[in-house]
Amino acid sequence: MRKIETQIIKIEHPLSDQQLMTAAQALRAGELVAFPTETVYGLGANALDPQAVASIFHAKGRPADNPLIVHVAEPEGIDELILEPSEIARLLLEAFAPGPLTLVLPRSTKVSDVITAGLDTVAVRIPAHETARRLISLAGVPVAAPSANRSGKPSPTRAWHVFEDLDGLIPYIIDDGPCEYGLESTVLDLTGSKPVILRPGAVTAAQIMERTGIEVADSTEAMGESDVPKAPGMKYRHYAPEARVWIAAGTDYAARAEAISNYLNQLSEEGSADLRIGLFTSGMTRKLIDCRYYEYKSYGKMTAEFIETRPIWPARNLVYIDYADRPDPASAAGKLFTALRRFDQIGAEIIIAEGLPTEGMGNAYMNRLNKAAGGGKPAGGR
Ligand code: AMP
Ligand code: MG
Repeated sequence: MRKIETQIIKIEHPLSDQQLMTAAQALRAGELVAFPTETVYGLGANALDPQAVASIFHAKGRPADNPLIVHVAEPEGIDELILEPSEIARLLLEAFAPGPLTLVLPRSTKVSDVITAGLDTVAVRIPAHETARRLISLAGVPVAAPSANRSGKPSPTRAWHVFEDLDGLIPYIIDDGPCEYGLESTVLDLTGSKPVILRPGAVTAAQIMERTGIEVADSTEAMGESDVPKAPGMKYRHYAPEARVWIAAGTDYAARAEAISNYLNQLSEEGSADLRIGLFTSGMTRKLIDCRYYEYKSYGKMTAEFIETRPIWPARNLVYIDYADRPDPASAAGKLFTALRRFDQIGAEIIIAEGLPTEGMGNAYMNRLNKAAGGGKPAGGR
C-alpha cells in the first residue's frame, strides 16, 4: 500500500464543530478517519461508499469475511440500514443507546456486501462518546468502523496505539485521550428466536434483563448449538501479543497470587529464569506474590501521553503493570489492551495476567484475555 502522511487531530475541550470539520469532510469524501469511542478507537469510513469501506479492510489487513459495525449518531439513523422496524431493538435502544451495545438486525439494501461480508444482517451501534457522535453527525452519513488496530493486534484504547499500527496507512487520527471502557462493545444478535450475545462487553445479560425484562442468551453458554449464528470475527486469532500469555486462575486474589508464585518458582527452577516477564495484576495481588528470585520493576505511569516512560529490564527480569490497587474487572478490562501492547513493545516473552471471576465486566475481560492467551482455557487449574 502507498505510504500516506498520517495527520493527528488533537481535540481540545470544550469540543467545537470546527475541530472536527476536516475529519468529517474527509469521511464524506471517502477517506478513512480513526476516532475515539467510549469502547475503543474505531477506524471509520462512509458506510454508503463501498470503496471507502473496502479501504478499511486494506489498512487493517482484515479478512474480507469479517463484517463491520455501522455507527450512527441518533436512533433514527438506524432505520435506513435495517429491513423493518424492530420492537425489541427499539426497547434496547431506549435503555442502552447511546452506549456500548451493538445490535445485529436484518439489513436493508442500502448496506453493501462489503460491510456485512455478504451476510443478510447488519451490526449497528450509537456510540456515547461526544467526539464520535459529533463527528458522525457532521459527516452526515453512517460510519462503518471496526477497531482501529492492524488485524490480530490488541484493540487501540489510546490514539498512539492507532498510530503504532496505522501510521502511513490512513490520513487522519483524532486524538481525544484514553477510552472509557477499553474493551469493544457487546454484540447482541436479534435475528434468531432469542437474542444472543455474540461478544460480551460492558452491557451484560443481567443489565439487559434488569432494564428491559428481555432475556438474552450468552453465546459462550449456547456454544455448540448449530442454529446459533456467531460473530464471524470471533473465530480469528485476536488481541494477540507477541509474548506467550499465562492466566493466573483462583477464586480470590490470594489464591491467584499463590498460583503466580508457584509458576514463577517453577520457571526459575526450570532454568527459564532469564525469560523477560510482564506481570498484569492488581497491586494487592502483586504484593502477595512470594518469589524472591525476581527483581520487580514497575512499568511506570500508563499515561495518555504520546511518549511514555519505558523501563529498562531489571537484571532479574520482571516488569509489572498494576491495573488498580484492588482486584476490579472494570479497571482490568480498561487497561488490558494497553498492557499487552506495552509488554510487547519492551520485548516481554511471557505475560502473566490475573484471571478474574466472569461476573459483570469480568465476563468480557476474561473473553479477551482467553483469546490473547490463544483461545484456550485459563491455566492454573481452572
Ligand atoms: P470490531 O469492530 O473490530 O470489534 O469487529 C466487529 C465485530 O462485530 C466482529 O466480531 C464481527 O464479526 C461482528 N459483526 C459485525 N457485523 C456482524 C453481523 N452482521 N453479524 C454478526 N456479527 C457481526
Ligand atoms: Mg476488532
